[in-house]
This record gives sequence, C-alpha cells and structure tokens, in this order.
Amino acid sequence: MGWIRKTTSSELGLTGSPGGHFRYSRLLAEIEGMQLRAAGEPLALLLVHVDGVADVNRRFGYGAGDEVLERCARRLADVAREQDLFVPVTPGCHALLIRNPLHESHAVLAAEKAGRVISRPFDLEGESASLRVHIGISLLPSLAATPALLLQQAEAAQAAARSRDQPWQVYSGRLEPDAVEQAPVRYDIEQALHRGEFEMHFQPKVLLATGRLHGAEALVRWNSPQLGNVPPGVFLPAIEQTQEVRPLLRFGLNAALRAAAGWLDERPDFRIAVNLSAGNLEDDDLVQQVSDALKVWHFPARQLVLEITESALMEDASASARVLGELRALGVEVSIDDFGTGYSSLAYLKTLPADELKIDRSFVSGVVTDETDRQLVQSVIQLGHAVRLKVVAEGIETLEVARTLAGLGCDIGQGYYYDRPLPASEFAARWITRPVTEASSTLPASSPA
Ligand code: C2E
Ligand code: MG
Ligand code: MG
Repeated sequence: MGWIRKTTSSELGLTGSPGGHFRYSRLLAEIEGMQLRAAGEPLALLLVHVDGVADVNRRFGYGAGDEVLERCARRLADVAREQDLFVPVTPGCHALLIRNPLHESHAVLAAEKAGRVISRPFDLEGESASLRVHIGISLLPSLAATPALLLQQAEAAQAAARSRDQPWQVYSGRLEPDAVEQAPVRYDIEQALHRGEFEMHFQPKVLLATGRLHGAEALVRWNSPQLGNVPPGVFLPAIEQTQEVRPLLRFGLNAALRAAAGWLDERPDFRIAVNLSAGNLEDDDLVQQVSDALKVWHFPARQLVLEITESALMEDASASARVLGELRALGVEVSIDDFGTGYSSLAYLKTLPADELKIDRSFVSGVVTDETDRQLVQSVIQLGHAVRLKVVAEGIETLEVARTLAGLGCDIGQGYYYDRPLPASEFAARWITRPVTEASSTLPASSPA
C-alpha cells in the first residue's frame, strides 16, 4: 500500500527545479519500484507530450507559456487515480503510470481523458489558447522486460501518434514507429451489434423551473464478452474513423425509439434524445434513416431530439448547417452538444438550424465554485435564449449546481444529481411509472413546483 501515491500539485515543481533538472531517471526508478513491489501485476505507461506551447509563447509571451504548462501538469495530475502515479518528466512531457489496468482499453480510457483535459481551452487575459497532446502507451508485462524498454516503447508509440497526428497510440511490437498498429484495439462493431452486445441506457432530462421530467438522453453501452464493459469514450473514436457509425446510429435510433414509444402512453410529451456522430452527417441516407425509424416506431418527430457535438458541427460548418436544416424539415429537434468546447463563433451559432444548446459539463460543474465558469454559463444561457434556443446543462452533480442553474434561467438539467444513465427497465420504473410529484421531490427545493 505504501507505494500507492499520487503526486500532489506542490510536488510538480515544474519551474522550481534548479538547473532544469529533468526526471527521466526518477521515472525509471518509479517504474522499477512498481515492478518490484507488484511483481506480475499489469502496468501501463502513458507518455504525454504537450504541443502548442510555442504558439502560446508567440501570442501571449513566455510567461503565459510557462503558466499554461503548469496548468497542464495540474490537469494531468488529476487524471491519475489514487493508485496511479503522475511523474512530470520535462515541462512539456509527463508520465502517467497506471497500476493494474484491467485491460488495454483502460489505458486508452486514461489517454482519452488526458487528451480531453488538455484540449479544454485555457483562459489567458480573456482570450483562449488551446494545446494538443500526443500520447504513447506501453504495457507491462506483455512486451517490455525492463523500465528502460518500457519507456522506449512508449516513446516509439508517442512518435507514431505524432507522425499520424493521432492523440494516442499503443505500442504493439517493434520499436520502429511503423510497426505500431494503426488501431490498437480493433472492434468488430457490426458483429458486436449482431450478437446483441450493445445496450441503450437512459438518463433523465428535467425541466429546471418545475422539476418535471422532460425526457431522456439515450447513451450507448457496450458489454463486450472479451473486453468487459467498454465505455463509449473508448470505442466511439475507433468507430468514428470507420464506416460503422451507420450501423451504430441504426441501432441507437431503434433502441431509443422502441423504448420511448413504449413510454408515450404514460408520458405523452416524453422527448428522447439520440446522439449523432460527425460521420452520420456525411451520410446521404441520414434523413431517410431517421424518417424510417420514426415511422417504424410511430414516434412523433417533434419529440425526437438529435444531439450533435459542437466540434462535429464545426468540421464542415456549411455542410452541417444544410443537413441540420433537412433534419429539422422532418420535424425533429436538433441539439448542439458539449457547447463551449468547439470554438464556434457567435455569428455561426445564429445561422445554425438548431433548437437546443447543451452546455458542456466542464463549465457546469464550476458554476458554484468558479466565478468565471458562472459568468460563462450565464452568458451562454442569455446568448442561447437570444437566438431562441432552449438551454440544457449537462453534468449536474449536486443540488447546489441545479439550484444555481435554475436561478440563471437555464431551461433543462441533466446529470448524476438526478440519475445516472439507466437500462430501459430501470429508467421506466424510476421515472415513467411513478407519479410526477414523486419525480419532483428529488429536484431542487428552490425551484417552483
Ligand atoms: P454526451 O452526449 O455529452 O453525454 C453525456 C455524457 O456525460 C455521458 O457519458 C453521461 O454518462 C455523462 N454524464 C451524465 N451526467 C453526468 C454527471 O453528472 N457527471 C459526469 N461527470 N458525467 C455525466 P457517456 O455515456 O460515457 O457518453 C459519452 C459520449 O459518448 C456522449 O457524450 C456522446 O457524445 C457519446 N455517445 C453516447 N452514446 C452514443 C450513441 O449512441 N451514439 C453516438 N454517436 N454517440 C454516443
Ligand atoms: Mg449527448
Ligand atoms: Mg454532452
């Protein structure tokens, strides 16, 4: 137990080490220590290189570059769980040692998380700057016998990630970057769908002003017999690089509409939200696919919400606007998901055919504690209302956050405070079949009933 330790921010000392003392040797010693103390236990090394600091230096000065690097290190340190170890190696390179990852996908999940926390914009004198990461992952006990080899393999994987401009890469063979597999975990989604390994879960969306149920978001889950419970953050990026977004949407629409259609008797106004991937917007059949699914399940178009992330919309802004327009012509609603992370301009927002704006949870969680987040959320709500969009806050985890958002005029709330995503039967038992008044009792006491 003694070796289980998370480096605290005060230990980061990024600028304080005399003579620019680098820490590869410390990293090697830590790996060796882990190997000795937990013989045979799996271990993953994530080598995280932060890029884009030169640009920050140029735009804001070297002091800002230092500050951003330091904030990066703190964000990364927070990704490490209690049993993991965070080791800053150089100001722009950090190592995460993941102890006992259940599977490679666990290390990939940590890499995804690291990528996400770093790509969140940094606020610098009211302007924002963003950085990128390239992460190399190597694993024990599979390939490397010594700490130095493990590090070399992570470096090779990191170089491959950089040369392919991918956020992460798992080392899988020889040291040459070319030997690193393109897709570290190959998922046969079509097969998995056939075998019924995917399941839809449902998370309530609640009207903040009244505390009433508004609807639910359908969130996919993959129970893989080989890999265990694989979260969407891990398998979606792999799917999104392939043609498989189409079968996934077919599954998603049908699973969500089948469940929601069954709840209409008791909740005639129930709205169901389904997520789209960027690739779905490029599919010529998208509108037909949605319209067919609505017909099959006799589901009213105006009660289906399609969520698409702001960054997916920005990939090809004018094409996105056209497709969203066609979807809305069917009568369905369009929601801009994870708003605030995709750098769209206000002018762009005004032109988007959309009905709803979902504020990203990275801003929502800070509304009570962080004045900047509160102001940001407040202005997004005002802005959304000014262009006639409903505003949803996702990631509400506490009553305090729910109350604050209700006070700021936010329309709809979603998050663990209300409920986690649940399998259809459990969702129905907790949210559909019980009286509305009961549902309200779990909601912010300050909001009018
Ligand atoms: P999203 O659409 O922004 O969904 C919200 C995510 O936040 C979900 O993660 C949900 O479980 C999580 N969440 C909900 N409440 C809270 C909270 O209070 N705190 C925190 N920390 N998290 C909360 P999940 O289910 O892992 O999904 C991740 C993303 O995967 C989704 O983000 C969505 O972009 C994508 N996704 C999920 N299901 C599907 C699907 O069927 N199709 C497509 N294309 N994408 C999907
Ligand atoms: Mg969503
Ligand atoms: Mg979201």
